[in-house]
Amino acid sequence: MWRRVSSLSNIISVAKPSLLYQVAHGLHILKAFSTEALNPAEAGILSKTRSPTINFVLGGPGVGKGTQCTRIAETYGFTHLSVGDMLRKEISSNSEYGDMILETITKGKIVSSEVTVKLLKSAIASSETDRFLIDGFPRSEENRVAYEQIIGIEPEVVLFFECNEEEMMKRVLHRNQGRVDDNIITTKERLRVFEAYSLPVIRYYSQKGKLHKINAIGTEDEIFERVRPIFDA
Ligand code: UDP
Ligand code: MG
Repeated sequence: MWRRVSSLSNIISVAKPSLLYQVAHGLHILKAFSTEALNPAEAGILSKTRSPTINFVLGGPGVGKGTQCTRIAETYGFTHLSVGDMLRKEISSNSEYGDMILETITKGKIVSSEVTVKLLKSAIASSETDRFLIDGFPRSEENRVAYEQIIGIEPEVVLFFECNEEEMMKRVLHRNQGRVDDNIITTKERLRVFEAYSLPVIRYYSQKGKLHKINAIGTEDEIFERVRPIFDA
């Protein structure tokens, strides 16, 4: 059985006042889609058969989450789920959320948990594997609370790739992947959003003793060598 993580009252009691708005906003969204997302048949897919292992991989824009996730996944046998890639797929397949997602990504903001948790849930439920690296999520306390309510599998490891803003900006602007959000204006906003919304999630997992901070300055190989001991253990 999947273990539900801390109750909402716990979350609220440990949250700093500045986070309460985000949490309250998350609850509002949860109320709006919980009946749909938790229908018994779907909940059954998630709970009956398996107890998956989940790890979160966090860090600012361009820090190298995707690159390192590919290597970790290959070496240690995880399925790599990049929520950013899932969202970009929704855009290119013209899904019902495509326009909204494109607008949100172009502005450097965070897509509603209603969409991302649903995408994540169906990716996990339809996968034949049960060891996952979730890349770039949760990005806010709202995301985290929605995840806990709807999916509720406590992450085992939370990796945080750390790097200064100048370096992140440089990497984003040089990676040439044709992304609508890899420009100076959007990336400044992504950095601001990261600090305001994602750092609280990182602090939360640090307080829970789950956070593994990785210095993300160096070559791909050097950084991977810093990651290995966590998964070799
Ligand atoms: N995004 C989101 N929620 C997620 C993951 C991604 O809203 O859980 C959006 C957000 O607008 C973000 C963009 O997708 O800026 C790109 O995310 P990704 O992780 O691919 O890129 P990164 O910021 O790591 O370069
Ligand atoms: Mg990425």
